[in-house]
Amino acid sequence: MKFLDQILSYILPPRCLKCGKVLPDNRGLCSKCIEEINFITQPYCKKCGHPLEGNFDNKKMLCGSCLSKKRTPFRLSRSAFRYDENSKHLILSFKFHDKTDNTSLLAKMMYVAGEDIFKAGADVIIPVPLHYSRLLKRKYNQSALLGHELSRLSGIKLDCRSLVKHRRTRPQVELRGKERLENVKGAFSVKRTENIKGKRVILIDDVLTTGTTLKECAYALKKAGAKSVDTLTIARVI
Ligand SMILES: [Zn+2]
Ligand SMILES: [Zn+2]
Repeated sequence: MKFLDQILSYILPPRCLKCGKVLPDNRGLCSKCIEEINFITQPYCKKCGHPLEGNFDNKKMLCGSCLSKKRTPFRLSRSAFRYDENSKHLILSFKFHDKTDNTSLLAKMMYVAGEDIFKAGADVIIPVPLHYSRLLKRKYNQSALLGHELSRLSGIKLDCRSLVKHRRTRPQVELRGKERLENVKGAFSVKRTENIKGKRVILIDDVLTTGTTLKECAYALKKAGAKSVDTLTIARVI
């Protein structure tokens, strides 16, 4: 297999996953495309991971929303970079155009971004599930691919079976605010509660937009007795 890889890389040199420029090795992105990505770095809210600008409590490192103790089902949330014009292509090609060779690079970025979560400790990695009809159409669950890679990097068990999406929903991007909530409300459930009870869960998804889907997953997990739920996504809309 390694021999075959070598021949292939000779015929087809590795290319930048974003702009297609030929690269000297399998680093995934060229330096120009890497520089364009808006990684989420310190300072950010130590609870929800939102970048901190201007007014925030320097000592507590919490954003206004977390300071006001707004109810959230999540212990910690982290994302690797901002979802914007520079990073959009990476996510969309991964999600819809079978560009699964991005998986390893994106998972590594998430692993670095999730440092606080791994330090706090977790028992199981659970990708946001797709409804089986969507899975048949798309052939793979992009969050499960990331989860698999993150499990390999962190040594934390991957569980793709206990949390299920038992009802079809419309794509959240087509909807706004309240509609989003109604669309996914009660769409997820836990099939094997014994696998979840007392566990610290890391939920994996591609993009954190309003967090509605992740919240619904967290409610189902908490109902099944999960001790805590963290979220780790590639990108987030700020
Ligand atoms: Zn490039
Ligand atoms: Zn916060």
